[in-house]
Amino acid sequence: MNAPLLPALTEPDQREAIRFGQHTLTYRDLAGTAGWLARQVTGAGRVAVWADSSIHTCVAVVGCLLAGVPVVPINPKVGERELTHIVNDSKPSAVLAAPGVTVPSALAGPRQVHVDIEAREPWTGEEPPADASALIVYTSGTTGSPKGVVLPRRALASNLDALSKAWEWTSEDVLVHALPLFHVHGLVLGVLGPLRLGGTVQHLGRFDPEGIGTALARTATMMFGVPTMYQRLLASAEADPELARALGRARLLVSGSAALPATVHERIHEVTGQRVVERYGMTETLMNCAIRASGDRRPGTVGPAVDTVDLRLVDETGQPQDVYDDETVGEIEVRGPNLFLEYLNRPDATAAVFHDGWFRTGDMATRAADGYYRIVGRRATDLIKSGGYKIGAGEIENALLEHPDVAEVAVTGEPDADLGERVVAWVVPVGGRHPSEQELTDHVARLLAPHKRPRTVRYLNELPRNDMGKVVKTRLIAPPAWSKDR
Ligand code: ATP
Ligand code: MG
Repeated sequence: MNAPLLPALTEPDQREAIRFGQHTLTYRDLAGTAGWLARQVTGAGRVAVWADSSIHTCVAVVGCLLAGVPVVPINPKVGERELTHIVNDSKPSAVLAAPGVTVPSALAGPRQVHVDIEAREPWTGEEPPADASALIVYTSGTTGSPKGVVLPRRALASNLDALSKAWEWTSEDVLVHALPLFHVHGLVLGVLGPLRLGGTVQHLGRFDPEGIGTALARTATMMFGVPTMYQRLLASAEADPELARALGRARLLVSGSAALPATVHERIHEVTGQRVVERYGMTETLMNCAIRASGDRRPGTVGPAVDTVDLRLVDETGQPQDVYDDETVGEIEVRGPNLFLEYLNRPDATAAVFHDGWFRTGDMATRAADGYYRIVGRRATDLIKSGGYKIGAGEIENALLEHPDVAEVAVTGEPDADLGERVVAWVVPVGGRHPSEQELTDHVARLLAPHKRPRTVRYLNELPRNDMGKVVKTRLIAPPAWSKDR
């Protein structure tokens, strides 16, 4: 017999599984409604779930997992062209949505099923094998067109177990968050994580600092978020001592999906006494690195490899670098039961990222003597080759964020006749402030080596971000009219 992915649903009890706005489902309720759903989709090839932030999305995904039907979560904010691409690529035979939701015409072909959270028909089918596909999650499209990442049940189970071990995460914990449910962060870690453990997830529907504070002051013990959420929590906690106290009392605050600026990490510590734990992962591998709950939570590090995951750094030719220091940058490769199976319908793209069982992440990092990784950025957009140096964008971004007039920043490289590439800083100033280009470049040259200073500064009202709040650097391209000293 195959081990169950969600053991708490095999003998469900009255403990709370999911709290979502005014809805609460105990494990017994969840087993009933997800069991009903599983019967609706049993035998389907693939099923799309209209993954809005609702309890219906959670039930739909759990029901499909019970039935062993692969789920394609759809970001409800996705544009028509992208949706058409996802539908043509994944060819779902049914679409699951909350009652009252009308899906766009691109999704109207397959059979529609509305999720009934009042239904109670526990599932009695057999557990699918560990290598069966569980989820097909489309990547954020930060660096290109989204690819369907096929994740097997084994990846989910092994990775959630590794994380619960690292974070001493148990069935007693109540996790609060407001992450979107069409992505691995919110869906796998944020919903399936607590459910695999038999714990509780409290989803706020939408992010607001006050809601997080209230939940943590009551029963929630931990929170997951992306860096932009921690920035907003910090701004609120600076003005609200009660929120600062609630954040300080949490057992664990975890940030992931993008780099948490070191300035934000330090300032949250000053205001709340809490050190946010940073983890590193991606759709294709789930989570690779996590700092242990009791470990050293120093800013800018994402910790050592989690249990069962093998990591290594390779140089430009793909040779492993057996180096443990704070300086040598290499590309991270991953091996282990956490890996995805393939990019759907993209054998070319799949073959390009695998060799000898190792997956090339495209992310650059250093690895310290204690095995702690420090993410430098993406090979494609964050590694700037300038004047014979390899410069990581993140280091310069962190330095610029230390300037009092800089609210947000993204650093990119642009072709340069002399240097090969030159460092360009895209700066969102703090409201009402106008730091000059000279002031900002001097600031960086003071904190870092002079060759790391930006050669060009461009000012923006906001940075282009995707639905996960990540900066999309490929959209930071200077139109010809930009002048150097604008
Ligand atoms: P696409 O693959 O379509 O370009 P994406 O890579 O942004 O999109 P995800 O799988 O959601 O899609 O994101 C994973 C990436 O996010 C990682 O490869 C890494 O570049 C970045 N990332 C995740 N966690 C961290 C972190 N703690 N620090 C820095 N970067 C991180
Ligand atoms: Mg990626």
